[in-house]
Amino acid sequence: MKMHNFNSGPSILPQEVLNQAAEAVLNFNNIGLSLLEIGHRTSWFQDVLDESRSLIKELMQLGEEHEALYLHGGATTQFMQVPMNLLDDGETAAYCDNGIWGSKAIKEAKLFGNVNVVASSKDKNHTYINKGFEIPATSKYLHYTTNNTVEGTQWHALPETNVPLVADMSSDIFSRNMPFAKHSLIYAGAQKNMGAAGVTLVVVKKDVLGKIKRAIPPIMDYRIHIENGSLLNTPPVFAVYVSLLTLRWIKKEGGLAEMEKRAKERAEYLYNALDSLPLFVPTVNKEDRSFMNAVFVMQRPELEQPFLDECKKNGMVGVKGHRSVGGLRVSMYNAMPMDSVKAFVELMTEFNNKNL
Ligand code: PMP
Repeated sequence: MKMHNFNSGPSILPQEVLNQAAEAVLNFNNIGLSLLEIGHRTSWFQDVLDESRSLIKELMQLGEEHEALYLHGGATTQFMQVPMNLLDDGETAAYCDNGIWGSKAIKEAKLFGNVNVVASSKDKNHTYINKGFEIPATSKYLHYTTNNTVEGTQWHALPETNVPLVADMSSDIFSRNMPFAKHSLIYAGAQKNMGAAGVTLVVVKKDVLGKIKRAIPPIMDYRIHIENGSLLNTPPVFAVYVSLLTLRWIKKEGGLAEMEKRAKERAEYLYNALDSLPLFVPTVNKEDRSFMNAVFVMQRPELEQPFLDECKKNGMVGVKGHRSVGGLRVSMYNAMPMDSVKAFVELMTEFNNKNL
């Protein structure tokens, strides 16, 4: 029997995507070869790339000025690749520090230029999203993390600025409609809402490129990847294909509006329970709560392990909080059925009533 999968990433994928991916590993599109056995420069794989990129742009409602790239190295590589391509020595970029991933991006950007941390929620353990802060108009760009996977906060409105926006959307990409076109660069590791680990999506507006003096190694240069259509070297073919299957599934299910509706329903159901059961205490500022990752603690910390044991007994995985913040975390990405959330709430309610 399939477990209730609350993992934070890699995480739950639609069952039909898993079935189709398994089939393709054995016999890709009935051609008599595995997906893993075909060259990345064949028309078979070119079709996969072309369809994926076109679906990405369709779902995000992007025009000619944006390019979608599939790159290696995870979102972590983007922490350095973004400033390497966009920030010259002596220039300053604005960064928001709302969690561990944003902090890592800040640290790496400092290797390439000046960083101005224009907003930080560190004073309250990153349990809220900053509002109404100043962003100097001279900033080369503003970097923010749309959803803080570890801390459980999410930007529900865009930061207000005219400087180019750069967003790490690793943990809420394709879970809601956003003004994607207003961004100069968006990146996301695929292993949450858009497929398997091993590939990173980068969407870049071409007009921000080529504006720095630094020499960039070709494998790190977005312009070279654009010229080569994400085929500068061998792409992670399996991860790209799983991403195509996931994008097709998102479109078939009703696109981003439907993903957003489902995410809100799941989150509302879970947070309502967290707000009403005294043993479970949500840690995040109400209006900044993430629809993807709900973070909470036990009112009596000694009950945390017994509760996790109950989860395990009931076939629920991924409930333990990130090692850096502790507590508990439930991740509810696009493929998460409402039934899993209901089963979890039922378990919390029983546990609450038994131990109160
Ligand atoms: N940014 C965010 C918001 C994340 O959640 C993660 C990973 N969970 C990363 C960056 C790092 O991604 P990767 O492991 O793909 O490098």
